[in-house]
Amino acid sequence: MNFTELLQGYTGKPLADCTNQELYLALLELVREKGAGKVQPVTGRKLYYISAEFLIGKLLSNNLINLGLYDDARAALEAAGKSLSDIEEVEPEPSLGNGGLGRLAACFLDSLATLGLPGDGVGLRYHFGLFRQSFENGVQNEKPDPWLTAHSWAEKTDITYPVELAGKTYNARLYKLAVTGYGARTNTLNLFDLDTIDESIVKDGISFDKTVIDKNLTLFLYPDDSDEAGRQLRVYQQYLMVSAGAQLILAECAARGCNYHDLADYAAIQINDTHPSMVIPELIRLLGEKGIEFDEAVEIVTKTCAYTNHTILAEALEKWPRAYLDTVVPQLMPIIEKLDELARTRTEDESLAIIDKDDRVHMAHMDIHFTHSTNGVAALHTEILKNSELHGFYQLYPEKFNNKTNGITFRRWLLECDPRLTEVLEKHIGSGFRKDAAELEKLLTFAEDESVLNELTAVKSANKQALADWLLHTQNVKVNTQAVFDIQSKRLHEYKRQQLNLLYLIHQYYEIKAGHLPAVPLVSIFGAKAAPAYTIAKDIIHALLTFSKVIAQDPEVSPWLQVVFVENYNVTAAEKLIPACDLSEQISLASKEASGTGNMKFMLNGALTLGTMDGANVEISQQVGQENLYIFGQTSDQVIHRYDAGDYVAAQWYEGDPNIRRAVDFLTGPQMLVAGRQENLQRLQNELIHKDWFQTLPDFNAYVVRKGQALSDYACDPMGWRRKCLVNIAKAGFFSSDRTIAEYDRDIWHLGK
Ligand SMILES: *Cc1c(COP(=O)(O)O)cnc(C)c1O
Repeated sequence: MNFTELLQGYTGKPLADCTNQELYLALLELVREKGAGKVQPVTGRKLYYISAEFLIGKLLSNNLINLGLYDDARAALEAAGKSLSDIEEVEPEPSLGNGGLGRLAACFLDSLATLGLPGDGVGLRYHFGLFRQSFENGVQNEKPDPWLTAHSWAEKTDITYPVELAGKTYNARLYKLAVTGYGARTNTLNLFDLDTIDESIVKDGISFDKTVIDKNLTLFLYPDDSDEAGRQLRVYQQYLMVSAGAQLILAECAARGCNYHDLADYAAIQINDTHPSMVIPELIRLLGEKGIEFDEAVEIVTKTCAYTNHTILAEALEKWPRAYLDTVVPQLMPIIEKLDELARTRTEDESLAIIDKDDRVHMAHMDIHFTHSTNGVAALHTEILKNSELHGFYQLYPEKFNNKTNGITFRRWLLECDPRLTEVLEKHIGSGFRKDAAELEKLLTFAEDESVLNELTAVKSANKQALADWLLHTQNVKVNTQAVFDIQSKRLHEYKRQQLNLLYLIHQYYEIKAGHLPAVPLVSIFGAKAAPAYTIAKDIIHALLTFSKVIAQDPEVSPWLQVVFVENYNVTAAEKLIPACDLSEQISLASKEASGTGNMKFMLNGALTLGTMDGANVEISQQVGQENLYIFGQTSDQVIHRYDAGDYVAAQWYEGDPNIRRAVDFLTGPQMLVAGRQENLQRLQNELIHKDWFQTLPDFNAYVVRKGQALSDYACDPMGWRRKCLVNIAKAGFFSSDRTIAEYDRDIWHLGK
């Protein structure tokens, strides 16, 4: 049977007569059945990756690629006058994550299945993912982003588990979403939800009644936590996830013959950041119900669980007031108290306690004491954990600390999002890299081959044109495809320093006005959502949108400089932006970005990194060599030293440097005030002059110089530039999540054994 006949078996009529919606549903069913055929029995240890976020993105194309059906499907549809990319438009994107951490979890599921490892995800079936962002009058507007439809990838099961929250029992229902691997096994993403959720309680943007738990519990990913009720709701969500998850794990292991004493032979549990930390006391509690004594339960859980740390930003390491936990999970508090006592027998250092003297419960501390592994997510990040942030813990448990540098799945971030590049690569180095990313290195033999470099240039031009078409179609903005495409797309956060990029752009504006024209026009593209309650982040968005308006209206500047802010940055948008990028902005304050994964996606798609020595940028630099990327700015040692000394005074930099002063002053200058809002612009300016916690100003001049160097290389030495791109693609293999997962398995999980 050819693919057309196969698909018609699902549509029941000729493909040409089907709507895109009908074709989408038929493909969904087809993929589901093919995927189900690859479910394999589990022997030995199985992984449960528990995470509050799985930023999976659209699944149709990804599943077709992984099942080896993509080319056939595209051809069959084209023959019927249909287009796969139009059909993809029908699919709603599940945005069940904020950014990198959630996207990492999704990449890991793909790699687990691809490597043939037994490993399932455990999380929540939020009804609305991260909010849908739009810009209205220069400010971010937030709306719910629904993704659940009558036909969803996540299938309802008749399995439920009782979960007790604040003394009341709720039934957590299990939904299963198939995770297909590339030519290998199918695993499962287990998502829990309540039947009683009521989407109609959402009013006025993304606000809702936070008190009616049975109606609101899984409505949103991370409800706004700027108020008390929102913060408590997180605890409710987290416990729903870990309690249902722990019950699922115990049931599955028991069904395979586990007697609970040997749980660690059947299950490995990875705690993705601190959100699922309550799985530790919850498992101890459940094992207690099975008749296992506390001491043994602690030992079992420690052997079973491992913890991944994702950040050194103190505000992100969760510390719950004990009163919340007393209210929401009174059944866990006696266990957490005993864990605190036990931890205190191992160390007298008060700063390593689980419950501190202010009665706050430190989730990360519980994780480190009572799991067997704590890992950071890039080499530099792990070193900072060991040497400063978690130094006391490292002294106590040196054997627990290890590094697992993040990665990305090449199926989505190369094969799916950049078919043009994939084709050129296959032509020259064969298709082995699809399964073994290290084979990309074969490309290095073509580093001096002008015809190959020209082909890469042609791919990039076509991708830039495609992005330009998409921007015109979706946002009605026209960009100059002859310009350099410089992209900073990631969550909006002061540590990621979109404001540094903004100051550069203002600097360029003045240069152009003064007649110092750049060697090549610049299109500077941003994509970023700001947390709804994060005022300064929203001010940065406003300033960028306002600046964009100012220069668009200026005929002297607009031919040379254009700023585009893409609405609603999500996985779908990322897949359009990344293949079209020339210069990848990775400019976080050194020491603050744990790893970054956007940096890896851009590199893989042949963009050059302009970045600080932070997170995985350090390893990118080691892979490609100093000459194939653009590094600038303070080192993490310098930054950490400055914080320790507490001697950073932004105003001195502002006052002492005319270029900095000119750029910062522009924020509230007449052009900006005509186009934007005084309150927001003034607040951002004050922040930069009087606080600037993430040290934008000390890196300003180095950034201007390095970016200028990159742009002039692009303009003056096109072959040299393209050769650097080639080296970046060739050296991206290390950043495949297949490599990352193989390391987790080798050092921590030992799956299937
Ligand atoms: C990869 C990705 C991120 C992470 O980007 P960073 O630059 O590492 O912060 C965030 N959001 C989306 C949609 C992504 O695909």
